[in-house]
This record gives sequence, C-alpha cells and structure tokens, in this order.
Amino acid sequence: TGKLYLVPTPIGNLKDMTFRAVEVLKEVDLILAEDTRNSGKLLKHFEIGTQMHSHHMHNEHKTVEGIVKRIQNGENIALISDAGTPAISDPGFLLTRACVEAGIEVDCLPGPTAFVPALVNSGFPNDKFVFEGFLPVKKGRQTRLELLAEETRTIIFYESPHKLLKTLAQFIEYFGADRPISVSRELTKLHEETVRGTSKEVLKHFENKPPKGEIVVVVSGKK
Ligand code: SAM
Repeated sequence: TGKLYLVPTPIGNLKDMTFRAVEVLKEVDLILAEDTRNSGKLLKHFEIGTQMHSHHMHNEHKTVEGIVKRIQNGENIALISDAGTPAISDPGFLLTRACVEAGIEVDCLPGPTAFVPALVNSGFPNDKFVFEGFLPVKKGRQTRLELLAEETRTIIFYESPHKLLKTLAQFIEYFGADRPISVSRELTKLHEETVRGTSKEVLKHFENKPPKGEIVVVVSGKK
C-alpha cells in the first residue's frame, strides 16, 4: 500500500513552502487540491509536474472511498488545500479518518498554518489554548459564545473581514468590554499587522479602519 500525505502550503508568503513539501509533492503519484486553478500556480512556481485532481468540501464524502482504494493499490497521494495545513478549517478530515480506519499510513508534514503565529503574536498565555475555527454563522452561534464566556484558556477564531465588526461587538456583549483581544491580519503578507487591546478598543480601531484580508482573532481567557 501507499501513503497519504497532508502537505501544508504557504498562507501568503511563498518562501514559507518547505523543502520537504516540494519534495513530497514532486514524488507522489497524485495531488488532491481544494482548488486546482489556485494550486496550479503554486505547483508551477515550484516546478512540480505531478498530476492533480480536485478534492473539496462538496465532493469529499463521495471521493474518499475511491482515494482509499487507490492508496491501498499502492499509490502515494498528497492532499493540499488553498492555504495552510489541510484539514485545519479545510477539507481533509474525512479522508484522514478513512485512511486511519483502513490502516493506511498518514503523514501530515509540519508547515504553515495561520493560528500558530496569531496565537504567539498575541502575547497571551499559550501553554494552554483552544482552537474554535469559524464561529457558526447563525444556528448555534449564541450557545457557542455563552459557553466560551466561561473559558479560561486563550481562544483562537478564524474570521472573515466582513463579519469581524459584528463578531467583535458580540465579544463585548458576551466576554465584556475589557477582555484583551488580539487581531492578526494578512499574516506573512505585505500588509501584515496585529492589533491588540480590549475588545472595545479593537472594535473602535476597526470601525475607523474597516478590516480587509484574512483574519485570526485571539481572545484572552476568562480571568
Ligand atoms: N488551513 C488553513 C490554516 O492552516 O490556517 C486555514 C483555512 S481557512 C478556510 C481560512 C482562514 O484562515 C481565513 O479566513 C483566516 O481566518 C485564516 N487565515 C488564512 N491565511 C491567513 C493569513 N495569511 N493571515 C491571517 N489569517 C489567515
């Protein structure tokens, strides 16, 4: 049998691609990509000529079985997402679980992911933390926020720029106006910045300067 590789790709800066990521992507029999057009540019840049198929949220549950069979028949397959580490708020979990259950060797390479630099940049305690990914948009959002209001560990959220103001207003409501917050934007890119302050101060900052780009919000735990 072959092996499943989960290969992290840059979250902005192409120089964050690791030597091993390039090597593995060159050597595998097939690359599964979330968006083949987006990943095509990356593969071209690193002169990776491996065949590529699409594997995304909408077809993941249907394609898993076929991929497991191909690996069992001896093929080595690598999964990449649009950015960062596959399966972290990205497709990949279903395939990983299916491979583990089938006794296939799974190898996630270490590499770029947005939440680690955002957590460390925050300056909040990082000996213990929780990763919440994206908050539910509607159903279950309030329950989640109520539950997290009692959380004492540092909390990490992924967020989109057009929802940030609403989310920060809710953090004031549920966690209090004085809760320390750190917002990291455009990590590894030209306009990278981290804004720190109380939830009230950070909301004010972004009301004056509407947020753009990709965002990680880190919230200090309850004292
Ligand atoms: N798999 C990715 C990872 O390992 O971080 C996450 C994919 S998720 C669909 C995309 C979200 O990750 C964005 O909405 C943002 O919250 C965060 N993100 C990705 N790249 C980022 C960057 N360069 N700066 C800040 N946040 C980023």
